Amino acid sequence: MTIRSVLVANRGEIAVRIIQACKALGIRAVQVHSAADADSLAVRLADDAIEIGPPPAAKSYLNIDALLEAAHAAGVDAVHPGYGFLAENADFADAVAAGGFIFVGPDGDSIRLLGDKVAARQVAVRAGVPTVPGSDGRVENFDEARDIVATIGFPVMIKAAAGGGGRGIRVATNLDEFERLFPQASAEAASSFADGGLYVEKLIDPARHIEVQILGDGERFIHCYERECSMQRRRQKVWEEGPAFDLPTTVRDAMCASAVALAAEVGYRGAGTVEFLYDPSAQSFYFIEVNTRIQVEHPVTEMITGIDLVQSMIRIAGGEPLSIRQDDVVVNGHAIECRINAEDPENDFRPWPGTIETLRVPEGEGIRFDSLLYAGYTVPPFYDSLLGKLIVHDRDRNTCLAKLSETLKGLQVTGIPTTIPLHARLAEDPAVVAGRIHTRFLETWLNR
Ligand code: ADP
Ligand code: ADP
Ligand code: MG
Repeated sequence: MTIRSVLVANRGEIAVRIIQACKALGIRAVQVHSAADADSLAVRLADDAIEIGPPPAAKSYLNIDALLEAAHAAGVDAVHPGYGFLAENADFADAVAAGGFIFVGPDGDSIRLLGDKVAARQVAVRAGVPTVPGSDGRVENFDEARDIVATIGFPVMIKAAAGGGGRGIRVATNLDEFERLFPQASAEAASSFADGGLYVEKLIDPARHIEVQILGDGERFIHCYERECSMQRRRQKVWEEGPAFDLPTTVRDAMCASAVALAAEVGYRGAGTVEFLYDPSAQSFYFIEVNTRIQVEHPVTEMITGIDLVQSMIRIAGGEPLSIRQDDVVVNGHAIECRINAEDPENDFRPWPGTIETLRVPEGEGIRFDSLLYAGYTVPPFYDSLLGKLIVHDRDRNTCLAKLSETLKGLQVTGIPTTIPLHARLAEDPAVVAGRIHTRFLETWLNR
């Protein structure tokens, strides 16, 4: 069935992005919003808008009943979940399907299999994809965990099976620490994800985070090459780029082939990301997780391949076979994305909602700004602090860095502090220019 209308079950910059894709496809976009988002850019741009509840996400963007009611009221064909919120909630995907709507993403069972990080590790093993040494399944109690740690050795990472957004993760360097952190991690996982399940992995350090974009229609599966997301703070991405710096071709090919093998193993349908850690000294890579949704950093891939990933996922959801063949996916030049957050980098990244006084966005070839901003807009305090992303594309990494520097100088958001000055410094930092980044780079750099 072809999709003629979509309910955008999200907010912020990704809602705007989904509306744009719908417009390009000639699809009607209906935007849901909380009481705090009535004057959001997404609401202004959508064909229609429906209020679904009060400001707290638990009562609006995470309220499955309210979202389904909105879908019925709007008479849409499909529901796009964006990222975060309910995007990787298998019960939501099932409820959308049971309500007679198309869920723009894989079905509930695929999400269950890949969204649970332990189940996903087992799928990776079956598909012949290398995983980080660690527990085969969930570790049920401390005694079992201690036995596993005895075989893999310290340091280890304790991770929540249901984790996401960099939360539910602890590093233990010895048995005492492990004994202390294990119950803490379990309690945090239970309260954040309503699932206290944990697993244990060897700590890979130094490591680079490199991930592969995939597309599948249930029968054919392709990759759209990789993105490097090693620039992180608190295990959340801050700056992403593609291709990965100086990655040996053999490694890139093996990583991309692994991602496709994993997609094929589960008959994947939609857009997804297979995340890996890369150990540069050993030139080895390890699977860490799959994100069964569109990702924040998808524009990096769109800029270097020319593929519109959001349009692709809507077409696939509508039942169209994947029209792009692997050989059609060609990387052209280099792209860098900077996440612009309403946070004060001078004050430990304190979130800072408030009113945008002026907004000036440089325009030009290879410059893209995906955001929720307009002058006069008041950023509400209830949600994630991401305001938007600046993405710059050019023929190679050095040219791209120079262009990024220039563009950041021209990008003006006043009224509230943002992370723009941080990116401006990073773009000119000698270590960044030399490509010497890894997952602990930014925190070390910030603590200099
Ligand atoms: P990406 O690689 O797309 O940045 P993230 O893991 O950073 O992926 O998640 C994107 C957004 O979704 C972030 O705002 C993050 O906080 C949120 N998120 C991810 N996983 C979860 C989860 N399990 N529960 C709640 N929010 C999540
Ligand atoms: P999330 O679901 O929160 O995104 P991930 O499993 O993707 O969780 O891990 C987030 C980040 O934590 C990674 O990008 C990496 O920086 C770090 N990390 C995760 N697993 C390991 C590991 N085994 N060794 C070292 N770092 C890790
Ligand atoms: Mg991740």
